Amino acid sequence: MTFSGHPIDTPPRAPSPIHRFGTLAVHAGSPHDPVTGAVIEPISLSTTYAQTSVGKPVGLYEYTRSANPNRTNFETAIAALEHARHALAFASGSATTAIILQSLAAGSHVVSVSDVYGGTHRYFTQVASAHGVTVTFSPSIELDIAELIRAETKLIWIESPSNPTLSLVDIRAVSSVAHQHGILVVVDNTFLSPYVQNPLDHGADIVVHSVTKYINGHSDVLMGCAAFNSDALKTRLAFLQNAIGAVPSPFDCWLAHRGLKTLHLRAREASRNANMVAEALQASPHVTSVNYPGLSSHPHRMIALKQHRDGMGGGMLSFRIKGGKKAAERFCEATQIFTLAESLGGVESLCELPSSMTHAGIPKAQREAAGVFDDLVRLSCGVEDGVDLVQDVRSALEKAVVAAKLSNGAFNGVNGYA
Ligand SMILES: *Cc1c(COP(=O)(O)O)cnc(C)c1O
Repeated sequence: MTFSGHPIDTPPRAPSPIHRFGTLAVHAGSPHDPVTGAVIEPISLSTTYAQTSVGKPVGLYEYTRSANPNRTNFETAIAALEHARHALAFASGSATTAIILQSLAAGSHVVSVSDVYGGTHRYFTQVASAHGVTVTFSPSIELDIAELIRAETKLIWIESPSNPTLSLVDIRAVSSVAHQHGILVVVDNTFLSPYVQNPLDHGADIVVHSVTKYINGHSDVLMGCAAFNSDALKTRLAFLQNAIGAVPSPFDCWLAHRGLKTLHLRAREASRNANMVAEALQASPHVTSVNYPGLSSHPHRMIALKQHRDGMGGGMLSFRIKGGKKAAERFCEATQIFTLAESLGGVESLCELPSSMTHAGIPKAQREAAGVFDDLVRLSCGVEDGVDLVQDVRSALEKAVVAAKLSNGAFNGVNGYA
């Protein structure tokens, strides 16, 4: 495989698998334009490509849904960063999930971790059943995987860390059991990005991402991808990519590829910032608990040390605030740098209330069983200055918890958050 993914490669400048992450992020799938020498690839907006005689296209491309240069280059870069032989890009993370589920025969069974992304849960419970695929959810997949496997089980679905409680799954432990039964393991790696975790290195068969989050990293593209080693999977999933047509535009591929080139810088900074914020939260009298896999107090810290680059915790964390749902709402409205919004993984920091926003669709009892209480706040740490983020969190905690207490007495209306 060439790392440029381009028919006319420039060998001396193409990176090789021996290169490290930052080098691959900048160079994999980034050939110089063979005609003009342009260092940055042009955006290939053409939907169709000329043929010199019937069935003989000028280059590699015929029609943009089947393949186009920007998508191929992006896919080449993703394959390199996830240590995979193949990668495919889709119109969204959700379309990626849908296509993997569509690849299963009717009658197939899937075992999934319970606290998957809300849209994944929705697809599993309300769409997959329509084509005869059933899904069993497990809150402790490492413990009960062997019991949950049936003759028809074809896929195990893992999300590590989980959303929004940041619990981890031992990918190697689950994959070992799955492989004894010839079952494929999928890991949704969106929350960590390929910089922090490479699931295929721990035994998974397919890694998926919502590219919308860390990989693009600038909150301006909706896109997804899958990466894997099997040639048979490549044939099957590439067929579905074309047949179903849930593909990203060339412009989105180009933007996401530009974002990916700085993934290592952004992921390092976001993780460093999240560590600072997590420590400040842990030390605060206004906080009851902090979920962050970078802290030594995290119940799955040993898995983080084994699976994450340098034991990094990533940029996501959640915490329970004192004062219940009202205090949690006030916190999200009191921050000056963290923007109250759904999504994650961008350069800008975001905060949200899962019980009322991203996870509002899950019944309260089920939500709370998974640790998603009304006072749980989720933070996506961006790449602003960490000192400013800590300051923002501290002052929002004061406003949310202390002002809430005062507002019951004489100081109604303090800062408008009473
Ligand atoms: C956002 C997200 C998805 C869905 O991706 P879209 O690009 O929004 O369709 C899937 N999994 C996780 C963990 C996510 O955060």
